Amino acid sequence: MALSEISCEEVLSEIEHYLHGELDQVKSVQLAEHLADCPPCFERAEFRRRLKEIVRAKCRSEAPEHLVWRVRMAIRTTRFPEREGPPGTL
Ligand SMILES: [Zn+2]
Repeated sequence: MALSEISCEEVLSEIEHYLHGELDQVKSVQLAEHLADCPPCFERAEFRRRLKEIVRAKCRSEAPEHLVWRVRMAIRTTRFPEREGPPGTL
């Protein structure tokens, strides 16, 4: 039961399910704990969440070009954490 540590890779691969609330309780707690402890993953989770909202809003109204651009920029910035991560972690 002490094994609540999961890797960033696992978090990132499950993040979509997590945001959709599709994970079982154990898993979502693991993710939540990891996110609380790992700023880079937390940033990505937050970003995904915001992205969903933007996409949802975009479906309602017109797709603003500058919004798409800002999202792309946000992806770029979130991909530059202080550590040199391995390429293609997303
Ligand atoms: Zn992490």
